[in-house]
Amino acid sequence: MALAKPRDKMTTVALSDGGHISHAKIGATGVRGVRTYNYPFDEKVMNIDVQGAKRLIREVKPKVALFGQSVYLFPTPLDELKEVFSEVGCSTWYDGAHVLGLIAGGRFQDPLRQGIDVVSGSTHKTLPGPQHGMIISDLPRESFETSLRRGVFPGVTSNHHLHSVAALAVTLAETKEFGEAYADQTIRNAKALGQGLHERGLDVLCERLGFTESHTIVVDVEEFHGGAKMAKELERANIILNKNLLPWDSDPIRPCGIRMGAQELARLGMKEKEMSEVAELIARVVVKGEDPEKVKADVVELKHQFTKLHYCFFEGEEAYDYPSYDGDLR
Ligand SMILES: *Cc1c(COP(=O)(O)O)cnc(C)c1O
Repeated sequence: MALAKPRDKMTTVALSDGGHISHAKIGATGVRGVRTYNYPFDEKVMNIDVQGAKRLIREVKPKVALFGQSVYLFPTPLDELKEVFSEVGCSTWYDGAHVLGLIAGGRFQDPLRQGIDVVSGSTHKTLPGPQHGMIISDLPRESFETSLRRGVFPGVTSNHHLHSVAALAVTLAETKEFGEAYADQTIRNAKALGQGLHERGLDVLCERLGFTESHTIVVDVEEFHGGAKMAKELERANIILNKNLLPWDSDPIRPCGIRMGAQELARLGMKEKEMSEVAELIARVVVKGEDPEKVKADVVELKHQFTKLHYCFFEGEEAYDYPSYDGDLR
């Protein structure tokens, strides 16, 4: 709303390469009437192809170059692309929904310092807070701030959900204090989970690159009945993850991939050692075809040992307690 008008052009990451649905024709971008063009993608390294993306940006001359993914294994090569942004004079927008907490912890990339105009993000993915959105920019233009504000309200939202603003403030304060350690352990866990699954015969993407530099890993489970079936089977074992399109997929209903993030288990105190236990539980369902109900008992047992919060002011506080109130509620 702030950066582009209907019929303007925007370059984005394709859905099947990990782009978010709001960046696509059927999402907010299309509703706004903005025309999208997808960057060429190098599936071997699960990242934007730098030379191809430069060519695309020079050719299309977009109003906005948008980056950021929902399947986000490695940082976007912003430094390598920078020269074409100024060459064609486009605005740049980094959708850091998934990786906001890793950026805050200094463990992914630093898009604003890399010259990006606007960073948007979710406060409930790797930033472990209540559901909100965030827009950050250091562009000095006042007119830009006005159009951003107008885009948000009355453009796309109205109420700002005041009930969870205090919780968000706590999350941000905790992120300043513990964000680095949390991001660090999250990424370590993701790598360890990738290694554990790889050792148990699963096709975890980007083995040669250490599987990931983020909280996410992606597994091609085509040989094990595909992502849709496996996500359902794993859910029966109390392991919640989602089916996901991979770059070589064509059917969004029955994709080859499953995607998982390590941030929640890290928050509950699990480390590399537990990641290999988690990998074993997943492999028992996916590779060995064990009855998910049987595996579920072991999943529950493992999880019962991890019910406390970490990387927060009240280290070790129960994660699942409901506040109790003894007073008179009349
Ligand atoms: C999740 C996601 C969104 C949507 O964010 P919500 O705050 O959950 O609505 C936008 N962009 C990307 C890249 C995402 O992964």
